[in-house]
Amino acid sequence: MLRNVAVVGAGATGTSAVVNLVRSGVAQRIDVFQPGAIGHGDAFSSTDPALLCNTSADSMSLITECPDDFVDYLHGLGMPVAPSDCVPRYLFAQYCRDRYLGIRSEASALGVRLRHHRDKVVSVAGAGPGYTLRTESGAEWPADAVMLCMGVDAWTPPVVRPFRCYSGVVPASALGSAAALSRDACVLVLGSRLSAVDAVIMLGRSGCRVQVASPSGTLPSVRTRMYPDPSDCGSLAALAGHPWVETTDAAQADRFVAGLVRCLAGHGRPHLRDQLSLADDPVERLRAEITIAEEGHNLWQELTVEFIALTNEWLRRQPPAVWQDFWAIVEGVLDRYISAMPVDNAKKLLSLADAGRLEVRGRRPSELTRRGDRWAMKWQDGSCDHFDAVVYATGYRPPSMRCSGGRLLLGERRRGTPTAVSADLRVDLGRDADERVFAVGQCSATRVPLVHGVVAVVPQISRVVRQLRAFPA
Ligand SMILES: Cc1cc2nc3c(=O)[nH]c(=O)nc-3n(C[C@H](O)[C@H](O)[C@H](O)COP(=O)(O)OP(=O)(O)OC[C@H]3O[C@@H](n4cnc5c(N)ncnc54)[C@H](O)[C@@H]3O)c2cc1C
Repeated sequence: MLRNVAVVGAGATGTSAVVNLVRSGVAQRIDVFQPGAIGHGDAFSSTDPALLCNTSADSMSLITECPDDFVDYLHGLGMPVAPSDCVPRYLFAQYCRDRYLGIRSEASALGVRLRHHRDKVVSVAGAGPGYTLRTESGAEWPADAVMLCMGVDAWTPPVVRPFRCYSGVVPASALGSAAALSRDACVLVLGSRLSAVDAVIMLGRSGCRVQVASPSGTLPSVRTRMYPDPSDCGSLAALAGHPWVETTDAAQADRFVAGLVRCLAGHGRPHLRDQLSLADDPVERLRAEITIAEEGHNLWQELTVEFIALTNEWLRRQPPAVWQDFWAIVEGVLDRYISAMPVDNAKKLLSLADAGRLEVRGRRPSELTRRGDRWAMKWQDGSCDHFDAVVYATGYRPPSMRCSGGRLLLGERRRGTPTAVSADLRVDLGRDADERVFAVGQCSATRVPLVHGVVAVVPQISRVVRQLRAFPA
């Protein structure tokens, strides 16, 4: 048993780490570093019931050996949810919080000391066989092993950076708390992925007219569930023998996608062209994909979880430079399916579009200027539009982890050099040592491509706990 394990960051990933660490009995003491409340993180902190999880309840258990834990929790609250339902996001935050409170009692019954430090860790220094964590308040804490669970940083595009402190330019994550926009306000949403979908739903509910703009002009696809019928056993195993797995040639990406397409359309599934829409117009594509989903023909969705697990497993064995080249190509094709939206959200968007209150455009912003109370956006094609407000939903980047003199610097983007994460998720501190610092979730994104969902992160936690168990005390 290790004496001290430190968990840095406690959104969903850190909460799952704590629960699984306590239950595994690997540590005598667990120090959790999280400046705010445990279990919320950015993604699940909204209390707006209109904001739904993008993944089904049966893919969101925090506990490795109990995949139905979230569904059971909801049933325990008396909610008649189906495992494939995408429930309001605040329920997942509540689940994380309740599981943390529960594990506190379990820890004390098991004699494990569990402590929450409301502080941010700024560095982790190698100290003999262990580590010293330094926090923003200047405190230092020892640890025998560290799990880094710091989540993502929101990315602000250069075009809006000069206007971040203006009330008319807001990140999508702050939309709920931003000053109310007048009915009929004309709002630009930059970005067209899941955060943009949330922003459109909130703005549409307030009666705003919205233009969604991104370079791709592509909305996420539409899903109704994430797992197959229990009688169907998935069919991606054939991809495991695909030649690219044995090679370091990123040009294999096309063949990989072709193999994937064959798997998706095989095993009695409809031809792929009947499972998807390739319509050029984003609203017509949305309309078609809603119909396909409601008719149950989008069978690609049932292989999403299996695809995430297999892809992460194969790519983790490739050198980072190789998989990153490969993934850059594959992601462009698959991202809108891996990060699909629930059909209920899709229908909200379609009804706004049909009412003339939503348009989706493929375009790149060039320059934003303030004109009195309004905003003028010049586009790279030379055109210009005027808006009452600009919301940016332009995505996230992994947390910064850099290394200097045997110390890991967290949240530092200039000093030191970027640190490497190994295939078994260990972080290299630049020493010749078998480190016990592990990167989980977004912290491992330089090594593992698909870590933006609970379903991908919880298996990583089990893998780390298994490694911790193997360490001598
Ligand atoms: C809008 C949105 C919706 C999403 N919806 C879903 C969904 O439906 N289903 C799904 O599976 N995934 C969803 N995701 C992905 C989601 O982010 C992850 O699944 C999961 O919530 C990530 O949790 P996390 O704990 O890794 O990160 P976070 O939730 O970001 O938590 C990280 C925590 O670490 C803390 N922290 C950071 N640095 C430090 C430090 N140096 N010291 C101490 N603490 C630190 C932060 O304060 C934060 O609370 C969504 C993401 C977004 C942005």
